[in-house]
Amino acid sequence: MAIFLGSDIFRGSGYGKGHPLNIPRVWPVIDICKAQGWLGEDQFESVPPATMQELTCFHTEEYIQALLDAEANQFIDIKRSERHKIGTHSNPIYPEIYRRPATAAKASLTAASYLISGKYKRIFNPSGGTHHGFPDAANGFCFVNDPAIALTTLYNNTSDKIAYIDIDAHHPDGVQNHFSHLQRIKLFSIHEEDRWPRTGRKGDVGAGNARNYPISRGAKDTDLLSVMCNNILPELLEFAPEYIVLQAGADGLVEDPQSGLCYSNHGYWRAVSMILELEIPILVLGGGGYNPYTTARAWAGVWALIIGQNPHVAECVAESKAVLESLYFPHRLGKNIPGRWVSRLYDD
Ligand SMILES: [Zn+2]
Repeated sequence: MAIFLGSDIFRGSGYGKGHPLNIPRVWPVIDICKAQGWLGEDQFESVPPATMQELTCFHTEEYIQALLDAEANQFIDIKRSERHKIGTHSNPIYPEIYRRPATAAKASLTAASYLISGKYKRIFNPSGGTHHGFPDAANGFCFVNDPAIALTTLYNNTSDKIAYIDIDAHHPDGVQNHFSHLQRIKLFSIHEEDRWPRTGRKGDVGAGNARNYPISRGAKDTDLLSVMCNNILPELLEFAPEYIVLQAGADGLVEDPQSGLCYSNHGYWRAVSMILELEIPILVLGGGGYNPYTTARAWAGVWALIIGQNPHVAECVAESKAVLESLYFPHRLGKNIPGRWVSRLYDD
């Protein structure tokens, strides 16, 4: 049994003019999945924002208080801005600066509890995957590190092994820093070489239990799937985790403005399928994804895979096309959008 966790807070919320995250991301996925007949009311659960107490399992109280104050006042003083990296170009103050990331974190926290209780075996939280966040500071568009909160919840409430797999174009520095020394957690990342934050180089194992597989700019499906088959899967099977957290950032897809990777959504979905096919209880997160068209199609397809549908051949119904046509993309790539971004869910 699978559940999709979300909230209406993501509808209409953006990081402000000029920011790469000032695009629709979560609600189009929900609307497309509903239009496709993939998401019934009993498969969707809305969650509230996490509380200070819940967030401080990973973050400092001072940092969460700074987010609360920044939301209330839409301002932060220079001293706290410098310490917590809030109110910067990358991590701007916007109307839902606390509630939005806190809601994504609550979804990941809820998901971890459901995995532990066995209520659901497959859980999707496309609002999550903000893997750069640090305990006391925002980092790389990430205010709250929801993968870290899910891992902490699974780690502290079980004595089981947990694998974290990250296929986002960027290295999950915030996650690696905090967990790579723990024997019951193993971290795997495939990301673009020499791309911000420039951590996770080849051979970097963090404090022992991280595995990093950087790939070159221009890497295609075959490169992604080769690392999955030859490097990640064998070691993952040997580790034999009881739980998996999969960060499925979609910014490695071709035509995403924030990476030079060139995956098609077929390759991306195949990578996700390889993990799902292990039939290990799993939380699948979103993450990066800065082209609203490719991101919405990719994540709708991930939900399809989670519930056993086949997005590689799925017909895009008229209502889904209407959702895609309604999206906005304030970037040069969004000026004359190709018809293939809105007419089908799968790539050529
Ligand atoms: Zn990314």
